[in-house]
Amino acid sequence: MSLLKVQNLQVRYPRSDGAVVENLSFSIQKGECLGLVGESGSGKTQTAMAIMGLLPTNAKIGGSVLIEQTEILGASTATLNQIRARRIAMVFQDPLSALNPYICIGSQLQRILLEHKFCPPNEAVQRVLAMLTKVGLPDPDRQFRVFPHQLSGGMRQRVMIGAALLGAPDLLIADEPTTALDVTVQAQVLTLLASIREETDAALLLITHDLSVVAGHCDRLLVMDRGRLVEEGKTAKIFASPSSDKMKALLAVAPRIDRNAPTTQAGDDVVLDARDISVGFKERRLGGHKNLHAVRSTDISLRRGETLAIVGESGSGKTSLVRALVGLIPTTGVVSFLGDRLAATVGARTALQHRNLQMIFQDPLASLNPAMRIVNIVAEPLIVHGENTQAQATATAMLARVGISSEYLYRFPHELSGGQAQRVAIARALILKPAVLICDEAVAALDGTVQEEILNLLQAEQAQSGVAIVFITHDLAVVRQLGHRVAVMYMGRLCEVADNDALFSRPRHPYTRALLDAVPVPDPDIQSTHRSLIGEVGSILSPPSGCPFHPRCEHAIVMCSDRLPDFREEPFGSVACHRADELDLGY
Ligand code: SF4
Repeated sequence: MSLLKVQNLQVRYPRSDGAVVENLSFSIQKGECLGLVGESGSGKTQTAMAIMGLLPTNAKIGGSVLIEQTEILGASTATLNQIRARRIAMVFQDPLSALNPYICIGSQLQRILLEHKFCPPNEAVQRVLAMLTKVGLPDPDRQFRVFPHQLSGGMRQRVMIGAALLGAPDLLIADEPTTALDVTVQAQVLTLLASIREETDAALLLITHDLSVVAGHCDRLLVMDRGRLVEEGKTAKIFASPSSDKMKALLAVAPRIDRNAPTTQAGDDVVLDARDISVGFKERRLGGHKNLHAVRSTDISLRRGETLAIVGESGSGKTSLVRALVGLIPTTGVVSFLGDRLAATVGARTALQHRNLQMIFQDPLASLNPAMRIVNIVAEPLIVHGENTQAQATATAMLARVGISSEYLYRFPHELSGGQAQRVAIARALILKPAVLICDEAVAALDGTVQEEILNLLQAEQAQSGVAIVFITHDLAVVRQLGHRVAVMYMGRLCEVADNDALFSRPRHPYTRALLDAVPVPDPDIQSTHRSLIGEVGSILSPPSGCPFHPRCEHAIVMCSDRLPDFREEPFGSVACHRADELDLGY
C-alpha cells in the first residue's frame, strides 16, 4: 500500500480564473524521495498545503488525499492534529518566518515535543539536544539558548528540519528548502535530508523550481505546469529524455556552468575605482558595544561596459561593499567615480553622481512604490532631475524596451509578476542612462526562465548603452553567463579577482574552488558525485586569526592560522593565499 495517495486533487479559489491544482493524482511509497518541480504558480505549494490540510478556508478543494487509510481532505481538527508532525511534517522555504523570533531555539523545539506529547516533560531537553546534534548544529548546548536571528540561514534551516523530525514522521514535505541558501549550505542541507531519509526510512516530498536540487536526490519526479501534472517518471529517465514541453523548457534554462565559454572584453576607461574600502558596524551586546568589520581594506575597479560579478556566501561582505559604494552605509576609503572623488554619504554627492550610479535590489516589489502607477514609477527619476517635459513619453519608451507592454503602464506594482516587477525596476534604474548599475541579487528570487530573460535584458542594455554593471550574486552559474571579471569575497575580504574564464577553469584560491565544486548541476549523474564544503562562514564578531578561510580549508598549513595572506595583484588576476603558487586547483 502507498504511504500517501493523492487522487484527482482539485484546488480553486473564488476569484481565480481556473483551478490552481487540477485533477492531480500521484502516490508516494515508504522511504521514497519524490521531487515535485515546476515554475512559480504551477501549483506545487498548493498541493503541499492541501496534503497538510493547511489551505485557507475560502479554497474549494476536491478529490482525495489518503495517508495510508486516513483521509486528510475534510478531516476534523483532531484528526489533522494527529497526522501533522506524527505522520506528515513540513519544512518551509523561509525558516526565519517559520520560527518565533521571541523564543529561543531550544524552547521552540521543546514546545513541539510537549504539545504533541511526543515525550514526558522530564525528557524534553535531552530530546531537543539530541535532535540539534542529529541535524548537525555545532555546540547544541549553546544553540539551545540562542534566538533565530542569531543563527545563519543554513543553521536555521537545520533547526526547522530538526523540528519537523521530532515526531518521527513517515513523510517529510520540504517546500523549496534550499532556495534561500548559498550553494555551499544548500549542498549541506540536501546531504542532511538524504542521510536522515537513509537513517529513518521516512519518505520525502521535495518541492522545488530548481532542477539541480532534485537531480541526484530524488527517485522519481512529478513535473507540474499551471496546476496540471504534465510528466511523471524516474528522475534519470526524465533528465535523459524528457517528454513534456515544460520539462524540456525547464532543462533548457537550468543554469549550468559552461567552462569553455570565452570571456568577452570590456572597454578600457575606468569609471569607478575604490581603494581601501572598509565598512564597520557597532553591535550592541550585554555590557557595551562590539565593533564588527563587514568589509576590510578592499580595492575594486570597474571599466566602461564591464560586468564585475561579486560572489561569496552570506556574510562575505558583498552587499555591505556595494551599499557603501552607493552611499547607503558609511565607509572609509577613497572612491573615484567618473574622474571625481565620490563622497561617502548620499547627501554629499552631486546630482550628476546620483544619476550615474543606480541600483536594483533582490525583491523588486519591495523596491517599487506600491501607491504609484508603473509609468510614474519609471518617470519619477527624470522629474526629480528636472526633465519633466518628456518624462512620461521617455518612461513609456523605456518600459517598451525592457518588455513591458502599454497595457501595464497604469497598473500598480502588486499587479505584476516578479519578472515584470524586476523589468520595471531595471527600467527605472536605466532611465537616467547611468554609467554604473549595481544589481544586488537581482535574479535570485526569479524562476529559471524569468532569470534568463532578465540576464539577457541586462546584457542587451549593456551592449547598447555601455553601462558598467556590478552584479552581486551567490549563484556562480549566473556569473558565468554574465561577468567579465569576478571578485570572490570571504568574511569581508577579497580572496580572488580574475577574468571570468580564468576563474572558472583555473581557480587559484581554495575557497573559489570549493564554491565552484558546490554549484548544483541539473544532471543526476554529476550531482551524485558532488563534494560539499564543510562548516559555515565564521562570525565576523570574532574572525579567525591568519587566513579567514583556514578553519574550512583542506589545504591549510601552520602558517595559514598565523599570518593573513597578502592580496597579490597579478596580470591575469589577484589572489590572497599563501599557497596559491604551489596548488593546482584547475579543472
Ligand atoms: Fe587555505 Fe592557507 Fe590558502 Fe588560506 S592561505 S586559502 S588556509 S591554503
